[in-house]
Amino acid sequence: VKGATTTSQQKTGEYIVSIPVVEPDDASVLDSEKMWEILHYVHERPLGVRPAEVAKEFDIRINQAYDKLRKLERAGYLVHQKRRGKPGKEAERKTLLYFSRPWGYTQLNADFENDVLRKKYGKLVMEAVKPSLVGFFKQVLEDLKKNPDLKKWYPSPQENLCLECGMQHQALELFYALAAFAAEVTSDESYDMYQVLLDNGYITQKKFKEYTTRSGDDEQWVLSDNTPRA
Ligand SMILES: [Zn+2]
Repeated sequence: VKGATTTSQQKTGEYIVSIPVVEPDDASVLDSEKMWEILHYVHERPLGVRPAEVAKEFDIRINQAYDKLRKLERAGYLVHQKRRGKPGKEAERKTLLYFSRPWGYTQLNADFENDVLRKKYGKLVMEAVKPSLVGFFKQVLEDLKKNPDLKKWYPSPQENLCLECGMQHQALELFYALAAFAAEVTSDESYDMYQVLLDNGYITQKKFKEYTTRSGDDEQWVLSDNTPRA
């Protein structure tokens, strides 16, 4: 079912404004304005981008375009798909299509993720955390869809489906953003969390008091929905 105001290539807004830099090489890959712009350019095009297009758009030679796309791919920001074409290097380049990965995933330390988190807590997350998160996602989607003021944030159904993975990256990025927000609110803004820090010796008594008793106009967030227990 299509929303009432959908148009093709409608921009629903960027939910995530940072991308992961895991290694020094990644940082150097992004070390020029053009690389950022090319990355954004590909990110906005779920049907994929050819080196020739990038060359034209950014007024560079096709070899340079190819080189930049390949660097972005090596850094993990892009993937490519080979379209069947005639053999030969030039022909092959013309048939490469580059896609952006969805933004917003967090690169965890692989050992920590696999040996600890997945092994010991995968089940707990599925049972205890997942239902709330999925409920939260569905609630937000429904609200964005219904509310005219929020509609610009609603990812239009059936649009911009990625030619590579078949999913709408905007929607995935919205979910990543919501999960990040949930984690942020939980860990930074709840009295319960400050209590955990205090109980485990991860915060000074002084700062604990300060953070949990603020009530200035813009700083009442700490206590607004968390009543401290005596
Ligand atoms: Zn995709």
